[in-house]
Amino acid sequence: MKKVIILGGGYGGIKALETLASYDEEMEVVLIDQHTYHYLQTESYDLVASKIPIQNTLIYLPTLVASFEKGFKFVSDTAKGIEEGRLICEKGEYPFDYLIIATGSVTRFLEGFEEKGERSLGVKSLRAALKVKQFFETELFERLEPQRAEKSFNIAVIGGGLSGIEIAAEMKEYFNRYTKNNALTCGNIKISLISSHILKGLDKKSQETVIARLHSLGVTLVKSRVEEVKDNVAVLDDKREIKFDFAIFAGGIEPSVFVKNLRFEKSEKGFLKVDRYLRVTENIFAVGDAADLKDKNGKSIPPTAQSAEQSGVIAARNVIAAIKKESPIAADIKLRGLAIALGGRYALVVTPFGFNIAGVAGWIIKKGIEQYYKIPLKLKAAKGYKLIKECEERE
Ligand SMILES: Cc1cc2nc3c(=O)[nH]c(=O)nc-3n(C[C@H](O)[C@H](O)[C@H](O)COP(=O)(O)OP(=O)(O)OC[C@H]3O[C@@H](n4cnc5c(N)ncnc54)[C@H](O)[C@@H]3O)c2cc1C
Repeated sequence: MKKVIILGGGYGGIKALETLASYDEEMEVVLIDQHTYHYLQTESYDLVASKIPIQNTLIYLPTLVASFEKGFKFVSDTAKGIEEGRLICEKGEYPFDYLIIATGSVTRFLEGFEEKGERSLGVKSLRAALKVKQFFETELFERLEPQRAEKSFNIAVIGGGLSGIEIAAEMKEYFNRYTKNNALTCGNIKISLISSHILKGLDKKSQETVIARLHSLGVTLVKSRVEEVKDNVAVLDDKREIKFDFAIFAGGIEPSVFVKNLRFEKSEKGFLKVDRYLRVTENIFAVGDAADLKDKNGKSIPPTAQSAEQSGVIAARNVIAAIKKESPIAADIKLRGLAIALGGRYALVVTPFGFNIAGVAGWIIKKGIEQYYKIPLKLKAAKGYKLIKECEERE
């Protein structure tokens, strides 16, 4: 029986798993992840702004895997390398006939940024997003004391991509709402979004809508690139200095340590090069952020949950094709628009049909997209939980 390993239970890995489960081929499938959960990064902006509880931003992987009733296994382990048909992890070694690498990416911090410890974080891990949320909740609590509330507090969000914008907008809306609902304790909290571009690559009209919304919320836009971070100061490329009490880094991504250490061909930024069937080698595939994905014309595809999901499906289908000794299918990954949360019940949906939907209608669509993804997974995990419990009771 062929052994298939999916490494990484994020957007790409989960789609690969669901796709493999939809086939009746005899195979041993193992999903390996360093965590026991799939972190719904696309909803982290709501977690940070305390709008949703932690369980709404994760899918528990052991119960999800059990729900397929296919004998698929979940292993929580951290991959270190690949050696002659074996995946080498911290706790063990796992032989495979086919491997799908779906390890995503990590925040690319500026030098010195991470060392700032508790007061400067990214949001690409659930742990970090949770720390950001807890930090701000504590700060809001402390500000109920008049002496503290009088003090100004500067938050720097570094990076004008999707994640930086969503976090800055949602937090500012949260602080505005908190001030209105409770007391005048947040008036001195300032959020600066520092970036040389706002949503680079997006059309001008959409960028203008985003900028107007950020202005209306009271987010200060600083159009510059951060060159250095030292002692709670962001030094900009024009030598200006922005002081911060807390900084969130959303300025870019890089491959995980696992991918960095692999000796396969990489893109300039260090992501795995794949052929049009998403193969790194004859029996190793790469999907999602971990891969240097290209469209049909060879143009780079931005790293998004959408591209991760589509590539996960294709890689899994090509594993099945290889097992059946059939021809693989070429990837044709397409971005089907973009939905950007801009604080409260306001979102901008950039449709692939050349028009945008902004405001409450955009927010309803954005929420619809998130729920459409999440609800089936939550239902599957609930089914898996029930199956595991029934099994335990029988034993
Ligand atoms: C704040 C924020 C907002 C976003 N909003 C959107 C949005 O609105 N729309 C959109 O399309 N995209 C959005 N994105 C981008 C999207 O989240 C990523 O592109 C997507 O998560 C990539 O999916 P993936 O499967 O490649 O990786 P991930 O989802 O990151 O999953 C990778 C998995 O691999 C595991 N892993 C990594 N290394 C190892 C190892 N060595 N051993 C074992 N396991 C390992 C990790 O634990 C993780 O579970 C957003 C990102 C952020 C941070």
